[in-house]
Amino acid sequence: MQQDQTPQQEWALETLAIRAGHQRTHEQEHGEPIFPTSSFVYGSAAEAAAKFSGEEPGNVYSRFTNPTVRTFEQRLAAMEGGERCVATSSGMAAILATALALLKAGDEIVASRSLFGSTVSLFDKYLSKLGITTRYVELSDLEAWEAAMTPATRLLFAETPSNPLSEVVDIAQLARIARRHGAWLAIDNCFLTPALQKPIALGADLVIHSATKYLDGQGRAIGGAVVGRDKELEEVFGVVRTCGPCLSPFNAWIFTKGLETLHLRMRAHGENARILAEWLEGHPAVEKVYYSGLTTHPQHELASRQQQGFGAVLGFEVKGAREAAWSVIDATRLLSITGNLGDVKTTITHPATTTHGRLSADQKDVAGITEGLIRVAVGLEAMEDIRADLARGLDALV
Ligand SMILES: *Cc1c(COP(=O)(O)O)cnc(C)c1O
Repeated sequence: MQQDQTPQQEWALETLAIRAGHQRTHEQEHGEPIFPTSSFVYGSAAEAAAKFSGEEPGNVYSRFTNPTVRTFEQRLAAMEGGERCVATSSGMAAILATALALLKAGDEIVASRSLFGSTVSLFDKYLSKLGITTRYVELSDLEAWEAAMTPATRLLFAETPSNPLSEVVDIAQLARIARRHGAWLAIDNCFLTPALQKPIALGADLVIHSATKYLDGQGRAIGGAVVGRDKELEEVFGVVRTCGPCLSPFNAWIFTKGLETLHLRMRAHGENARILAEWLEGHPAVEKVYYSGLTTHPQHELASRQQQGFGAVLGFEVKGAREAAWSVIDATRLLSITGNLGDVKTTITHPATTTHGRLSADQKDVAGITEGLIRVAVGLEAMEDIRADLARGLDALV
């Protein structure tokens, strides 16, 4: 290996996205090579011993490290402004590895009530078995976070903006609460990505990613990552190399190429989403639109301050509850009816009966998931086609 392109402090995000972590081999290739190899060989017994003991840097086994995976890790770490990144087999594996690395029996998590469904299941069904308990609070209510802290609280966990209601929490304030109580703050930055939000610069200790979403951006592969300081990431790395939720080199390569265009895609996604949100807000069949990019959003000022854009996930409520919402979804011909997001293809779903279907009626009430709510993750098709596809069902309601 030669010419590691170690990130330069002065490089802008767009440059880091294209150049950071590129490790050129003796072939002097221009692109990022894939290393589909389980293990690595050595020139001598002494070299093998030095690599195994860690005395000399280098690869041993792809469950531990792999050059293709390392390129993705270094690039994402540079873009998030973290010291180190550990890639994982999925976004859920990133959250699990973080919890196993940092927490032990008796520790407590304080988490936002508006989290990805599987994250809640992981906390409530599986971490609870290990004696790690989770308390949930309203995402934007800083007093509620403060009130939920106990001497056993070790981790604060949030997604901002939330899905699908686009609520926002002040990351810098939340980081202050965490620090005061000696706890870590982890932000799941899936919806905005480092192109639009830098939680570490705002004081977060850890950034979680489902690379499956916008980092890939084309719905091709499952993967995840944790970014943060060397100290904590060394523990996360220990979990991944021992327990095995490592990222495959093939998927790492896809994500590395995805990062190269991330800033352009996020800008285009956001532009489409803003136009759609404004149009929906003016449509007579629409009761309410949830998008932090709208000036009517109650936290628009905070979102504008801490984000460099507003992303492309938005919710809106139609008049007429489930029947009306389903009719709008069923009238589409272009949009994909699916719970996924972060793709160039626009997706549409009815949260109450899909992504949030397992919540009780009370839980849905608290979370604001009504029967009339529709979520759209706006893709990169032509805006007029996306709008026309939604207008078909919406116009029929008035
Ligand atoms: C999808 C998602 C996850 C889980 O990621 P996977 O790659 O599906 O395991 C975690 N958090 C958020 C916000 C997500 O959207």
